[in-house]
Amino acid sequence: MSAPLHKARPAGQGRALPDTQQGMRRRNLSRVMHTVRDEGPLSRAAVASRIGLTRAAVSTLVDELIRTGLLEELGPERPGRVGRPGSALAVSGRGPAGIGAEVGVDHLAVCAVDLRGEVRARAVRHVANRDRSPEPVLGELTELIHRVVAEAEGEGLWPAGLAVAVPGLVARDARTVVRAPNLGWLDTDLAPLLPAKLPLTVANEANFGALAELWLGEDTPRDFLHVSAEIGIGAAVMVDGRVLHGNRGFAGELGHVPVWPDGPSCACGGRGCLEQYAGEEAVLRAAGLEPGEDRVGLLAGRAEQGDAAVRRALHDAGTALGIALTGAVNLLDPENVVLGGALSGLAPWLLPSLRSELARRTAGPPCPVSVSALGPEGPLLGAAHSVVRGVLDDPAAVAERG
Ligand SMILES: [Zn+2]
Repeated sequence: MSAPLHKARPAGQGRALPDTQQGMRRRNLSRVMHTVRDEGPLSRAAVASRIGLTRAAVSTLVDELIRTGLLEELGPERPGRVGRPGSALAVSGRGPAGIGAEVGVDHLAVCAVDLRGEVRARAVRHVANRDRSPEPVLGELTELIHRVVAEAEGEGLWPAGLAVAVPGLVARDARTVVRAPNLGWLDTDLAPLLPAKLPLTVANEANFGALAELWLGEDTPRDFLHVSAEIGIGAAVMVDGRVLHGNRGFAGELGHVPVWPDGPSCACGGRGCLEQYAGEEAVLRAAGLEPGEDRVGLLAGRAEQGDAAVRRALHDAGTALGIALTGAVNLLDPENVVLGGALSGLAPWLLPSLRSELARRTAGPPCPVSVSALGPEGPLLGAAHSVVRGVLDDPAAVAERG
């Protein structure tokens, strides 16, 4: 049978399987995978009782998942039980892996995550990408992808797909960067510039950061706002565990919400946008520092030492974030706001003014603001895990390609 490729789809938006016998089989394969991954190791009988299918039906599904390398048997369970000893099943540490990649303004990163959720290979390169054209940047990224894929293959894994996080607006085709102002990219289809063999999903880094928070964070609610920053400020709106994409896929541009309508002009064409007050470069400017590498490290270091100008700049950035978030919180009523990405490293100095501004301005009780434990790793992990989730959600489609 020929192998249908995954159609690109926005990350985290599992497609509904058809309501046919074939669709039912694929749904059941997914239920087995999720059950073993969340609760395993489990015997076939335990899987059957958890998902409410007969032992025979589960055995057929499990055999298929073992044959295609998605599940593995750990050996017989300890003796002494009544009946034929069952073998404990676990998600395979070989088999498909999700390849996540990140294009940052100052760095490129790639990682491979296996079905168990472990990072198995990783490569990072610090490089100034601002105003570099997409070809050389994605050429370097492709080198890193090949290196990570080779390392993963050395451990018995194979790449099931590639997801790329970018600091910009991505069209709903999940491959075209419409605008990435801090890279200087406009209307660029990334697919021809990346390894052709891998099914590709491109998404805004804030969206992948939010998905990482949902999948890997502790007690993350299903309705929350995830705010992250590098030089720009992005947000993802999570509604019932899904990223809100908006009409064109551009939802979440918190950085261009006006904080002060007559403020400084912004690259977007507006004035007084949040980014002009709380973006890394704006904060450095306000603190009288030169933008360079490791901007967050510089700001955090100075703030820790008690530098009054830096603390004042971060306090004001927190206030601006609070004002911009007030609109979002009043409009969307999220359960909480999560600060991720580079912002998480500056949280101790941003949070007091952010929280008080938000509390003062929101209707109803204040919306809690927390800090992501994933920090700057969020978008890269979210990208890789989105591929892994795709495998767990439809193991049959991926097994056919393995
Ligand atoms: Zn703007």
